[in-house]
Amino acid sequence: MKKLLILFLGIMCSTIALAQETYIHCGKIIDTENGKVLTEKTIVVSGNKITRIQNGYVNPENSTAIVIDLKSKTVMPGLIDMHVHIESETNPKAYIEKYTLNDADVAFRSVGFANATLQAGFTTVRDLGGTGINISLRNAIAQGKIVGPRIFTAGKALATTGGHADPTNGNRKEIIGDPGPKEGVVNNVSDAKKAVRQRYKNGADVIKITATGGVLSVAKSGSNPQFTVEEIKVICETAKDYGMHIAAHAHGDEGMQRAIIGGVKTIEHGTLMSDETMELMKKYDAYLVPTITAGKEVAAKAKIKGYYPDIIVPKALEVGPKIQGTFAKAYKKGVGIAFGTDAGVYEHGLNGKEFGFMVEAGMPAMETIQSATVTNAKILGMEDELGKLKAGFLADIVAVNDDPTQNINTMENVVFVMKDGKIYKQ
Ligand SMILES: [Zn+2]
Repeated sequence: MKKLLILFLGIMCSTIALAQETYIHCGKIIDTENGKVLTEKTIVVSGNKITRIQNGYVNPENSTAIVIDLKSKTVMPGLIDMHVHIESETNPKAYIEKYTLNDADVAFRSVGFANATLQAGFTTVRDLGGTGINISLRNAIAQGKIVGPRIFTAGKALATTGGHADPTNGNRKEIIGDPGPKEGVVNNVSDAKKAVRQRYKNGADVIKITATGGVLSVAKSGSNPQFTVEEIKVICETAKDYGMHIAAHAHGDEGMQRAIIGGVKTIEHGTLMSDETMELMKKYDAYLVPTITAGKEVAAKAKIKGYYPDIIVPKALEVGPKIQGTFAKAYKKGVGIAFGTDAGVYEHGLNGKEFGFMVEAGMPAMETIQSATVTNAKILGMEDELGKLKAGFLADIVAVNDDPTQNINTMENVVFVMKDGKIYKQ
């Protein structure tokens, strides 16, 4: 009997220890659901969840609870970036790295990129393509082995032969080979099915296709359509069978239209989007992921002699500067906007710059934050767990010095980061 009582007390104590509470005193708090800035609230966190939000600055009765003072800050849900490449980062030698780096080199390097992303306040990201190391990275972070954002990954993107994500573009003929669905290259509907199923088997969460040419691939066109509608339809239908949504890289208008009709959820970049395509986006409930930061950074780097291979320079100078203008037009027309930056194409950790560029193009600050929280959570199918500060939601909480509705550039300097109830920056 005595033994049983001790065991019972032991279990009780360990339960209490597990449920340690954190009280966060928030000077201002962003209600992303209603688009409002509220003042003087206390967020109570227990384990990895928000248990309640109370008016005023409430102090815990339990002496083991932690109190965090963010009375001079603006607090909001952890930010979500829908377009990053966490395995790599732009540098002048990037184009020879695929011949010089081993997988382990890429993996170790990506640890720093993941940490930089989290420190910038991005507690969740969608990785839209690498070699597949991004799948292992997602797992290592989820298991707490390394520090980084929660990752939803596409693994390796899908392309057509010579298309934007064909991994052998620009190689000498002896090493070009004939990549197929396994490597993410498809040329008919049968390949398309197999490539999607292969991604599922590899552990991808989402499918990324390169619906048109792209700026940074060693190929001539940055905007031509590269899939048929039939191929895209089969990719989307197969992906949906496996519980995955589809993102399409697209600069040119024809390829974009095919992608939307084919069933993709998000159009990445959207550079040359026509008025007609904007209407199509609304009709099919597709979202634009603008990546304005990438457009600007790529155009700037193209002016540095020798930074990119010659074939890329004219594409970067043409496409890069157009993205912000297209975003402005699409927003005005009422196209759904999902926040995404293409980090990796520029330095990881600068993701917050995108907010300022969006505001500059005419989107109100509050809506930019809503796109990076509630909208993105919905696209990821995580709308009941991410994107809001609300009881029952995951405790992903960040803070900035100023009220971003007054000063949007404060989003570039996140001063507090909590993910899954654990503090990573204070
Ligand atoms: Zn990208």
